[in-house]
Amino acid sequence: MNPRDNFQFKVTILGSGSCVPQPDRYPSSYFIQPPGISGGWLVDLGSGALQHLAEIKENYQEIQSVFISHVHPDHISSLLPFLQALNYTPNFKRKEPLFIYGPWEVKEYLKRNLGFSISLRRDFPLEFVELRDKKMINQEGWSLISRSLKHSSPTLGFRWEVDGCILVYGADSQFCDALLELAEGANLLILESSFRKDNPNPGHLTTFQAGKIALESSVEKLLLSHLYPGVGNLSLEKRESEVRASGYKGEIIFAEDLMSLNITPR
Ligand SMILES: [Zn+2]
Ligand SMILES: [Zn+2]
Repeated sequence: MNPRDNFQFKVTILGSGSCVPQPDRYPSSYFIQPPGISGGWLVDLGSGALQHLAEIKENYQEIQSVFISHVHPDHISSLLPFLQALNYTPNFKRKEPLFIYGPWEVKEYLKRNLGFSISLRRDFPLEFVELRDKKMINQEGWSLISRSLKHSSPTLGFRWEVDGCILVYGADSQFCDALLELAEGANLLILESSFRKDNPNPGHLTTFQAGKIALESSVEKLLLSHLYPGVGNLSLEKRESEVRASGYKGEIIFAEDLMSLNITPR
């Protein structure tokens, strides 16, 4: 029996932190292994993501697709090093297409940097897929919806569905209707909870607001990430009680770097 038969998605956190340097929380990045897709996906690529991928002994050469939510450095810093590695690793030539999904700003980021910072070989099989609000993608075995969120830079959230199992990534965003719609009925919602309940900041969520979104969207499991030190250094009990104050009764998981979760439909 294929060991993946009993779950739909495997999610490994490569970075549970933010832009603030922390020794045990790298900036945002997730490695996602959907069933039946060899190589897997990278979702956001903050600094250190490739080193953590190597630490869990996964092969960067086989990544099928990359999804980038926005161009803030804590979400995109390892994109160029990733392309550099695929282009310059001795005795390796990427032949399968590498898909990069993201908003227009990511395309522009690549346009400005490729040829200046690094040059890819002429036949490098890079395929950029531009996403925008309410864009739907249907691929063999999976589908995606992207939504524009409310953040200080144009940002997209992602909702993937594989065989009835729904995984949602809320990227960086403050509380907004698009986030509620994107998250509706998710089996796993990955959400930022940057700040403490009593310290709201524009463009981001607090622990309490993240719980509110999970509650209002009837989410099965809530994975809280993008932790600034104020939340990350709090005891688990205190963090969880701030989220529970929202009334959310489902499972709450606080992200730690290199933690893995298997997601099955309920
Ligand atoms: Zn961020
Ligand atoms: Zn951001």
